[in-house]
Amino acid sequence: MIFSVNFMMAVNWTSHGVRSSRLVGNIIINSLEPIKGHLLQGHVPKAILISKHVATTTCWRSKSKMAGVLHKNLWETDPELFDLIKKEKQRQNCGLEMIASENFTSLSVLQCLSSCLHNKYSEGLPGARYYGGNEYIDQIEWLAQKRALAAYRLDPEQWGCNVQPYSGSPANLAVYTGLIEPHGRIMGLDLPDGGHLTHGFFTQNKKISATSIFFESMPYKVNQETGLIDYDKLAENARLFKPKVIIAGVSCYSRCLDYKRFREIADENNAYLFADMAHISGLVAAGIIPSPFDHCDVVSTTTHKTLRGPRAGVIFFRKGVRSVAKSGEKIMYDLESRINAAVFPGLQGGPHNHQIAGIATAMKQAQTPEFIDYQKQIVKNAQQLCKALTARGYKITTGGTDVHMLLVDLRNTGVTGSKAERILEDISIACNKNTVPGDKSAFNPSGIRLGMPALTTRGIKEEHVDDIAEFIHKGLELSKQVTAKSGPKLVDFKKVLENDPEIKSKVKALRDEVENFSRKFSLPGYDEY
Ligand SMILES: *Cc1c(COP(=O)(O)O)cnc(C)c1O
Repeated sequence: MIFSVNFMMAVNWTSHGVRSSRLVGNIIINSLEPIKGHLLQGHVPKAILISKHVATTTCWRSKSKMAGVLHKNLWETDPELFDLIKKEKQRQNCGLEMIASENFTSLSVLQCLSSCLHNKYSEGLPGARYYGGNEYIDQIEWLAQKRALAAYRLDPEQWGCNVQPYSGSPANLAVYTGLIEPHGRIMGLDLPDGGHLTHGFFTQNKKISATSIFFESMPYKVNQETGLIDYDKLAENARLFKPKVIIAGVSCYSRCLDYKRFREIADENNAYLFADMAHISGLVAAGIIPSPFDHCDVVSTTTHKTLRGPRAGVIFFRKGVRSVAKSGEKIMYDLESRINAAVFPGLQGGPHNHQIAGIATAMKQAQTPEFIDYQKQIVKNAQQLCKALTARGYKITTGGTDVHMLLVDLRNTGVTGSKAERILEDISIACNKNTVPGDKSAFNPSGIRLGMPALTTRGIKEEHVDDIAEFIHKGLELSKQVTAKSGPKLVDFKKVLENDPEIKSKVKALRDEVENFSRKFSLPGYDEY
């Protein structure tokens, strides 16, 4: 046999009421050379012609070249691209990464991500796949599930999880798809107040997130004075709006959430309580902040933020008894089948098995004493940064932080969020502009969000934080000098930064200081890329 052509009927999905049977062309090619012979002789097997695996014939003609490409390193096959990746690695190495959602994952996770697992299709769940050859893939996914539950100290009788979501946003869409009908009502923290796009964000003019296109959303807000979530107002509006899902989750909020209060409001409206712990899932795993699992029906997370795993998502759902009727009859949770079906075949196709392996090993790491120390250090560093910035006259929204990040309110400084973000980028400090409570415009925010997970991974401790605060302070002071030359507009501000010799040399001096400091702290992963 020079090659074999296997046609198999994919399992008929009509039993799931989803889609009718289809034919899968599954072509295994053992040798390219003889096929080339076929082509030249005009004997093209029909199966190959109809297979989408063979889009052109060029690969047959340049057989020897292709074989080379398959076995060479990226730096040999594509130096142009590799050079850019190396530059990015250098940027990560010499800058201070303070974007609150970012982290540097471990070498083990990177190894999973670039492993052979990437090659495998495995639609379905472990033990029930639509493809063959999944003996080890099944074991890997079971391991990831088991460890994910263990990392959060969950009883497998009461909780299950799905480790297939490609990332946080697809996970959240799967949660709504599983829990409610199209146009079902959801309530999440408004984006400008610290919520996430996928909690139903829309503006006056536009439904921005698909979660506000396919579902009806009503935001809740923080109190404009205190910066804290206004739970009373949420309760009042929930009585009117009658949501089916209430979302307890944040992307920019520096205080712990009151899950018990959320639960009461959800119960009053017979709504599901859904926690999106994307930002804080490392802190929750370490057990150093209140856990959403005590009160919620469903919990989603990304795995690449404080948890420091691969870029992926996980959904946890309750199992077992939901409530007991007056008659004594037990009403069971049915979330498992609904969430699983929403992920696949509802929204996704083949699981990303390399990511799932990354989740498995990250969840193992998350159960170690080192990981708990790491999470504690993140919070200490964030709190130390609040102190150091407050001492330099900066205002921190809510007055401090309980978690890994803080929001600096720049309204008393005359520096806008956009200018702050830009000047800090120029001195190799990465952060993002952010609205602060009371901001009039989401397009011209008055704050910056700073996070400590990535720096803490590099070994930053409290004693280093004062230096970092000083760099930030010097950068913001310099931005006042720029504004003095440029006037208020951001475009003019950028022009001065790019063209004014005096400013450019001051920026460079400060950037050199930051980069020299930063290089002292090592990064996990491969040395060069
Ligand atoms: C980051 C984040 C997400 C989305 O994650 P992606 O992986 O970027 O899609 C969802 N919810 C919250 C609260 C987040 O912070």
